[in-house]
Amino acid sequence: MKHVLTATLVLFLAIVFCNCNRGPYAASNRAYKQQAKALSEIVKQTPPKDSLPQIASEWVGTTNFNLRKPNFVVIHHTAQNSCDQTLKTFTNTKTSVSAHYVICKNGKLHHMLNDYLRAWHGGIGRWGSSTDINSSSIGIEIDNNGIDTFSAEQINTLLSLLTNLKKAYGIPAANFIGHSDIAPTRKVDPNVHFPWKRLADAGFGLWWSDTTNIALPANFNSLQALRIIGYDIKDSSAAIQAFKRKYLQQDKSTVLTDEDRKILYSLYRKYE
Ligand SMILES: [Zn+2]
Repeated sequence: MKHVLTATLVLFLAIVFCNCNRGPYAASNRAYKQQAKALSEIVKQTPPKDSLPQIASEWVGTTNFNLRKPNFVVIHHTAQNSCDQTLKTFTNTKTSVSAHYVICKNGKLHHMLNDYLRAWHGGIGRWGSSTDINSSSIGIEIDNNGIDTFSAEQINTLLSLLTNLKKAYGIPAANFIGHSDIAPTRKVDPNVHFPWKRLADAGFGLWWSDTTNIALPANFNSLQALRIIGYDIKDSSAAIQAFKRKYLQQDKSTVLTDEDRKILYSLYRKYE
C-alpha cells in the first residue's frame, strides 16, 4: 500500500512538474533564465572585465553599492493585432525587440523582463542629452494596432503599473514619455488617442496650463523651448509634429500658431 501511495505521489508530482514546464513560452522562459544567469556571471567577476582602461590599476572592491535604477518610462503602442502576436515577437530572438511590460486589451499585464535589466524598445533616439534611453528606462508596450483607442482596462492597468514604478524607483513626473518623443522622425507611438493629460493629472508626465493670461515674451524661441523640454530638434518639423501628437492630438500641421506657441511656452516653463 505504501508503495502504491509513493508511486501515486511521484506520478502526481511528475504531472505537476510537467505542466509547469509546458505551455507556449516554456522554451523562452528557459532561455531567459540562461541569459540572466550568464549576465549574473559578468556581475560576479572580480576584478570585473568591463571597460578597464589600458593603464595599470589595482582592484579594490568597494563595499557600498547596489543595482542601477531606471529613471525613465517609455510608453509604446505595439502596432500589432493582438497581445499573443506581441508576446511571440518578444520571445523570438530574430526580432531583437522587447519590452519590460505588455498590457493586453482586457487589461492583463505581462511582465517580460526584470526592471533592472535593459530591454530593447527605444531603438535609435534621443531625449535631452540622453542617447541611450534603453539603458535608463522601462519600456511598456500597450496592445494597439496603431489606430484604435486604448481600452479603459488598459489604462487602469497602466496607471497601477506606473504608480508602482514611480514609487519603486523615484522616477520624476517629467520622465514618463512616449516613443514618439524620443524618436520623432521614426515613431508615432503611442497614437493620438493616448490619454496623456489623464496620465499627467495622475503625476506621470507634464501638461500645459490655461493659456488665457499668457503673453509670449518677444524673444521666445519655440524650437529652443522644444529642445529644453527634451525633443531632438535636428528635424524641426518632426519635433513639432511629435509635440502636437502629444499635446494637441488632433492637429497634424507642422506650423506653430500663436496659440500653439502659448501652449508650448506654458509647458516649457515647467521644464526650466
Ligand atoms: Zn514604440
